[in-house]
Amino acid sequence: MRYLVLSDIHSNLEALTAVLKRVRRKRFDRIVILGDLVGYGADPNPIVDRVRKLKRMVIIRGNHDKVCSGIDNGDMFNKVALESARWTENQLLPRNLKWLRALPKGPVTVGDLLSISHGTPLDEDAYIFGEIEALNMFQYFKTPICFFGHSHFPVVFGLDDEALTTYIPVTNGGDNCRIKLDKTKRYLINPGSIGQPRDGDNRASFGVLDDKRMTMTIYRVNYPYEKTQQKIRAAGLPAPLADRLALGR
Ligand code: ZN
Repeated sequence: MRYLVLSDIHSNLEALTAVLKRVRRKRFDRIVILGDLVGYGADPNPIVDRVRKLKRMVIIRGNHDKVCSGIDNGDMFNKVALESARWTENQLLPRNLKWLRALPKGPVTVGDLLSISHGTPLDEDAYIFGEIEALNMFQYFKTPICFFGHSHFPVVFGLDDEALTTYIPVTNGGDNCRIKLDKTKRYLINPGSIGQPRDGDNRASFGVLDDKRMTMTIYRVNYPYEKTQQKIRAAGLPAPLADRLALGR
């Protein structure tokens, strides 16, 4: 099976459009989405409308989806995130608000192979940045692989009886990085963020898992971020949300 893995779209229509165009001719058995469809960007309704139409999709909510749809008050949010969440809630059409509110909470299992979570398999609002946080999370899922998002940082953590190994995808001037997975290991994998990358590469990031070949490929796709920035500024959203898209951090 081939899985297309998308996370942290954050109302960035130009980035999602570029990603879907990049994968248009490929076949996927499943699309898994790790939450945070909305928040930060200026296109919440077009994003929800687009994602709702995807076929063979398994999706969970993210922390921004909760706050933007009013099921969490956002008291853990910083000022910029909260301002964009309030703006997003005002913009969302009733049908999209209702659909976001009904998104399942992770972790959700997908077949025998996968679990999907937003923050960690234990807590949708918590972060996995480093190896110790990752190591402690392997006990909270049973499948060989667990996908997670939230940090906006693409990374693959592999665990066997002897050690935890970290793979940070490096594209070396290309647009993808393929990591060979080992059947004797278990994995925690973040495909990176489509709509607001934070690893210093401003291109949209997403993943493809091929469970027959046992490969995980992280792709990076250019998109016209200047257009996204213009929309954010025109909407009156906080300026740092536009500025950071150029930097990818
Ligand atoms: Zn996010």
